[in-house]
Amino acid sequence: MTFLTKELETKYPHVEAREMSYRLIWHFFRFSKVDMALYPEIAVDVAQEKRVSKALERLKQDEPLQYVLGTTEFYDLSFYVNSNVLIPRPETEELVHLIIDRHRGEAVRILDIGTGSGCIPIALKRNIKNVKVAACDVSLDALSIARKNADLNFAEVDFFQCDILEKRDWQEGSYDVIVSNPPYVTNSEKEAMRPNVLKYEPHLALFVEDHDPLLFYITIADYAMEHLTSGGSLYFEINEAYGLVICTMLIDRGFVNVELFQDIFEKDRMVKAIKP
Ligand code: GLN
Repeated sequence: MTFLTKELETKYPHVEAREMSYRLIWHFFRFSKVDMALYPEIAVDVAQEKRVSKALERLKQDEPLQYVLGTTEFYDLSFYVNSNVLIPRPETEELVHLIIDRHRGEAVRILDIGTGSGCIPIALKRNIKNVKVAACDVSLDALSIARKNADLNFAEVDFFQCDILEKRDWQEGSYDVIVSNPPYVTNSEKEAMRPNVLKYEPHLALFVEDHDPLLFYITIADYAMEHLTSGGSLYFEINEAYGLVICTMLIDRGFVNVELFQDIFEKDRMVKAIKP
């Protein structure tokens, strides 16, 4: 433990390094913090030692812990992740929470656009009774992870491939709820991002051109106008800089009851709109 923390401290602040060490030891040895306090010396065989030192090397190269371990937690569920999918974020848990809160007990049909790891549809399926959930992504690699995650969590989700930006790819379907957390970080915001995000997370899922930051939002709003039932809800996770512009865009396109929500850091992060 001390050895791992010391190694990781060459790269990460002490508290983070210690937390990572706990997570690594739990992952490889199923040894908890309490176990470690009780039995400070763990006997490690050569194969285990090799796996740990490989993980250590990857962490020192800035690779996120979630990719190194291959799993992460989202909304109290476990998800497989690799560099084909974004690591699910806490702000997306807030989006899922909002949808669950608003549709608890309703037998709604939901579509998630740009599903990545599948964390949104799977968490919704597991937490709203009687929902039918579909989800699409442009990336076949992402869909393959999403399908594994649905199996892992015993959630029935209808996954399909779709490039939402290509209108000829749009599929038939009628939904009561459409949700999306599309790429929303502008290229000019790239510089402020940490190397673990920049070097390892899929740029396809993160970035949009500076000159067209609402590209996905406008396209998905148009899709939602055609494919939502009357009274159906559209939910977006958004870049904090574009809350008002996105609300205005939705109102211009005929959506009503447009609401803007803040995340726990009081940043504009979610939008809900109703198709009349
Ligand atoms: N919230 C993510 C981040 O800041 C971005 C997610 C997205 O582009 N949809 O890294």
